[in-house]
Amino acid sequence: MPMNETHASPATPAAPSSPETGGFDDAQGIDLHMHSTASDGALAPAALMALCRERGLTRVALTDHDTLDGVAEARDAAASLGMTLLSGLELSSQWQGLNIHVVGLLPQGAQGRLVAGLEAQAQARVTRGEEIARRMEKLGLPDALAKARAQAGSDRPLGRPDFAKAMVADGLVKDMGTAFKKYLGSGKRGDVKAGWPYLSEVVEWINDAGGVAVLAHPLRYGLTRRKRGLLLDAFTAAGGEACELVSGFQNADVTRDLARQLDERGLYGSLGSDFHFPGGPVAPGSMSPVPRTALRPVWQHPRLAAILDRAA
Ligand code: AMP
Ligand code: MN
Ligand code: MN
Ligand code: MN
Repeated sequence: MPMNETHASPATPAAPSSPETGGFDDAQGIDLHMHSTASDGALAPAALMALCRERGLTRVALTDHDTLDGVAEARDAAASLGMTLLSGLELSSQWQGLNIHVVGLLPQGAQGRLVAGLEAQAQARVTRGEEIARRMEKLGLPDALAKARAQAGSDRPLGRPDFAKAMVADGLVKDMGTAFKKYLGSGKRGDVKAGWPYLSEVVEWINDAGGVAVLAHPLRYGLTRRKRGLLLDAFTAAGGEACELVSGFQNADVTRDLARQLDERGLYGSLGSDFHFPGGPVAPGSMSPVPRTALRPVWQHPRLAAILDRAA
């Protein structure tokens, strides 16, 4: 049946190594960037793991914004479904006035300075939510905090998507995209980022926890190639060791060029869908193929290989 041939089941053994993609020929079944209801994702951690399993994934990381709260539930679900779940998160930081995201892949969970770092992030989100609410009220959304809280549907720290949904629900904008474009996106009134730690600090927290810091979606900050190089330099200088080579769907030429920038700095390459909700642009595991590259995949990193590398 073509079904089994086109969609490798989790039991399918790894294909033999090929010179075409190097270590990335073993990328089948991997997704190292996904969100659950512990942050701004739509699926509870267990439901997310069930969807991952349904889609043939075998090695995944849950990477909610600034929290590990979903990981325990995801781990139990992944174990019962026969998948490998790596603890992870996506830390908010700032660099040169930009909001930069750093994924932490954390084989030992929260340790060392990351523990206090997580508390600081949660507090920063509370303070930021209050400030966003004040600004949204001035822009015509009364009771903004309560409305965003209602959209979140739990007591987790609020994010900009909760305010965007509240604006849509109140009829201020027609959809989330417009809410970000007009009010909450980069450089707009609701883009409050002064409270986030510097890029170098969050990288240090991840390293102190025995994890691997991965610069998230480097193509999504609206940077020129040169400025992206400066970001990669700052990240590497701070001790960052990996960067997402493919995030969801992206142009193959752009990926090849990015691979060159990562290779120049000796960074490992990671892959993730940045999945948030079903029915959107990506599902768990959906991402562009990796072109031929000499980069090493992050699952071969010495601190991760015992958990993630099938060949190890
Ligand atoms: P925060 O973590 O509170 O800064 O919120 C950032 C989150 O908002 C991102 O992780 C995305 O999930 C979401 N987001 C960013 N831009 C958009 C957009 N244009 N439309 C919808 N959601 C967005
Ligand atoms: Mn998000
Ligand atoms: Mn992100
Ligand atoms: Mn993300």
